[in-house]
Amino acid sequence: MKTTSERIDELKKEKNAIILAHNYQRGEVQDIADFVGDSLELSQKAAKTDADVIVFCGVHFMAETASIINPAKTVLLPDAGAGCPMANMITAEELRAEKAKHPNATVVTYINSFAAVKAESDYCCTSANGVKVVGSIKAEEIIFVPDKYLGGFIEKKTGKKMILWPGYCPTHLKILPQDIIDRKKEYPNAKVVAHPECRPDVVDLADEALSTSGMIRYAARPEVQELILATEVEIIHRLKKENPGKKFIPASERATCPNMKKTTLEKILEALETMQPEVKVPEEIRVKALACVQRMLEIG
Ligand code: SF4
Repeated sequence: MKTTSERIDELKKEKNAIILAHNYQRGEVQDIADFVGDSLELSQKAAKTDADVIVFCGVHFMAETASIINPAKTVLLPDAGAGCPMANMITAEELRAEKAKHPNATVVTYINSFAAVKAESDYCCTSANGVKVVGSIKAEEIIFVPDKYLGGFIEKKTGKKMILWPGYCPTHLKILPQDIIDRKKEYPNAKVVAHPECRPDVVDLADEALSTSGMIRYAARPEVQELILATEVEIIHRLKKENPGKKFIPASERATCPNMKKTTLEKILEALETMQPEVKVPEEIRVKALACVQRMLEIG
């Protein structure tokens, strides 16, 4: 009998599909993916692929972004219930009301948001390019949604004052300053990296604040032999694979995103067999959201 991975491989070839997985996916999902990366890398990959089907192993907004970029392709999200609580923290209606209060403001939206919210925005950004995107904007007033912590981090780095929406990532908020202090005591020679979705008092204790792709590059540096990671724990799977012999320590084992763990090999196989659940963005919203995503991809 063929294994689930072998069946996935067969169907992938048969349907000309590509499997994209986020750095926070289960290890076994990362292992069968064609490409593993962060939101920016995955959207760049989705923009370039010539596959007919994209199996997106991540959460709903990521599959929506792939669909925004590739309306002619079938985008599958193996578990339709894999959402992002942060993305749920702002609706298009709420953003319209905020824009009405600040009619001259430019809106920058973190990629962790619904397509309908992106459709109301001028620019999109990820944690990897947020500083670059905001830094390139000349406007006097900027509204940043939905993550107040990433927004605050970008404000500090760019010196631009922004109107911050009070959203946050519940997973990254589980990491507390005391966790970093305790890990540093246990591993005094380790470097510390923190994701900018973390609380500022956690970021302040880190050597660097980086997106997951930034963390992966940082971990590969020869002088980094022990690394404490203040982000979702599953990133360590990839780091261990790519850096044998080095030590990677999660800042907190509590930092697990339940939605990222909803995707399993069995669900990927079922998605390829049934070509469901499909994520498709209504054309009217897609066209507006595409302009916002494209502005980001042009900046890089
Ligand atoms: S880690 Fe946080 S931001 Fe990412 S999908 Fe999970 S809840 Fe959303």
